[in-house]
Amino acid sequence: MTPAFEKLQKHLKQLPGLGYRSAERIALHLLVEKPAKLPELVQALEEAARSVRRCERCGNLAEGDRCEICSDPRRNSQAVCVVEHVPDLIAVERSGAFRGTYHVLHGKLSPIHGIAPEDLNLRSLEARLIAEPIGELILALSNDVEGEATCHFITQHLPQDKTIAVTRIGFGLPSGSGVLYADSTTLKSALEGRRDYR
Ligand SMILES: [Zn+2]
Repeated sequence: MTPAFEKLQKHLKQLPGLGYRSAERIALHLLVEKPAKLPELVQALEEAARSVRRCERCGNLAEGDRCEICSDPRRNSQAVCVVEHVPDLIAVERSGAFRGTYHVLHGKLSPIHGIAPEDLNLRSLEARLIAEPIGELILALSNDVEGEATCHFITQHLPQDKTIAVTRIGFGLPSGSGVLYADSTTLKSALEGRRDYR
């Protein structure tokens, strides 16, 4: 192998879900088997790096200041579904059971892994709860100790002068997993059967 090949392989190996062998396979594919495709991939990466960012309101992926969901006036902005990651949001959207807006935390509290409140997208949630007419916060976080700690933290930091209903889904979802691994039907009934959290 050449130094440049090894450098590429090293970077690929750092991507989630890729081990040494798969990084090697991808590097070979890109450089040797399908080199004609490489400029398109480089261009797509550059374009995505330039234009994709976090929605300033909810943390979802966006190409402007706000994501498609936040920009859609038909969405009910009084209901906010709090999820850990963007794929969780996509799973809830796919279930078709929710027409409100979201807030993506980009993780969950975890003292063991050194993830503190300031590492998550929590400050902007607090700001939204103060500034927006939110009536219900639906916590769609993992059904585990860290998810529970995150739910607890959120309820402890609600504005005192507002009545905001807090509900949680996860009942009926597999223990220890997030909404991501639930199928649409399970997710739909979990959303419909959400319960008061406080
Ligand atoms: Zn948004």
